[in-house]
Amino acid sequence: MFEVILESSFSSAHRLREYDGNCERMHGHNWRIEVAVARPDLDEMGMVIDFRDLKRHLKEIFADFDHYILNDRPPFTEINPTTENIAKYVFDELARRLPAPAHVRHVTAWETDGCGARYERD
Ligand SMILES: [Zn+2]
Repeated sequence: MFEVILESSFSSAHRLREYDGNCERMHGHNWRIEVAVARPDLDEMGMVIDFRDLKRHLKEIFADFDHYILNDRPPFTEINPTTENIAKYVFDELARRLPAPAHVRHVTAWETDGCGARYERD
């Protein structure tokens, strides 16, 4: 299996609902998102996916969040905008966009240098 990794980022504010602590108050993060895309063999160019295409997909996905308050943007109007839920959302949105046999292996979202969450499907 071949795997490529791309890191990108967006900036937004959020607040965690029903949370007993500082994160209940509005604050911002520069979210770093790392995506891993895999396929069992390479395409005719010798690639898993063109990084340019992967960057374009992420840019489209982040356009709904960048410089917004996450709590105002679906699906985070309904679910808490935690790092875990952001990782899963990016995973699902990227999975919808990728042409088979390329597929998303995992997505890691970092809210700070030391704190991140990864989503992957078994
Ligand atoms: Zn936060």
